Amino acid sequence: MKKIFLLFITPLILLATSCTIPSNIQYLVVKSGLNNLKEYSDIHRNYHSLKGLCVNLIGFKEGRLNWNMLLVFNPKAPRGPFWFLPHDNENSAFSSAVYATHKYGGGFLSVLAGENRYFKGQDPNRNFSDSSVRICSKQLAPSPIYTSVVFSIINYFRGAGMPYLALHNNTNGGGITALKSSKYTKSFLAYSREQVKKGVGLSDEDSLVYIAGSSFKPPAQKISNLLGLGLNVKYEIVNSNSNDCSMSNYVVIGRSSSNYYNIEAQHGKTATQKRMVDLLMHLVR
Ligand SMILES: [Zn+2]
Repeated sequence: MKKIFLLFITPLILLATSCTIPSNIQYLVVKSGLNNLKEYSDIHRNYHSLKGLCVNLIGFKEGRLNWNMLLVFNPKAPRGPFWFLPHDNENSAFSSAVYATHKYGGGFLSVLAGENRYFKGQDPNRNFSDSSVRICSKQLAPSPIYTSVVFSIINYFRGAGMPYLALHNNTNGGGITALKSSKYTKSFLAYSREQVKKGVGLSDEDSLVYIAGSSFKPPAQKISNLLGLGLNVKYEIVNSNSNDCSMSNYVVIGRSSSNYYNIEAQHGKTATQKRMVDLLMHLVR
């Protein structure tokens, strides 16, 4: 009796904790397993913390670009929060994604570009468009394949009701700052201006959550929820005139959704970025 029970239950457990890739994206997998991917700096750097997760190299070609990305997910809960990391030079973002995947399930997709921001001249976060013609100035060539591959992976692993999620790192007091607003980006501070200028942890001008939408009127409730958690916010107004083919713009225009969050922290501020992940998870899970 006991044996029969075990015969039934064992395959179920294996299935629930396996690294099986869904059939619709299996064709993209080039290599699998932590040991086979040590040559990549992200893997090398995070080798120990990646243990227990499913790690795959995926590859596809569009025009002259042979894209490679790391697909990492939690075998115990493959569907959940799923992050996109377009910039290979942003190492705190990668560590934060590994942390999030262990703690909350789901996983992430991270572009490989030899530890650079650009891949062969193309910014991976200016390459989202379904169009068969080039529509953005920073797009070197049309990118419908890139767009559909990335979003088919995101949409498989993204749990029901989960937002589109991204992780980035920025430079100290650089172009991305919670202290400034512009025509299409409106900043909201969770702390006093003086505290933000001091630049410690969550209050730093570089620690912020980007949200996006098509309306010129910022989403008050969403912003107040984020500020209440102690997260600075930047709301990006997206329309076809301002479209820069970034992920946020594509989510709004191409997917008709404003359910998008991008956690930004300064390069090297990994502890702060992990804390931001925890705070955002309070809101979206
Ligand atoms: Zn970035």
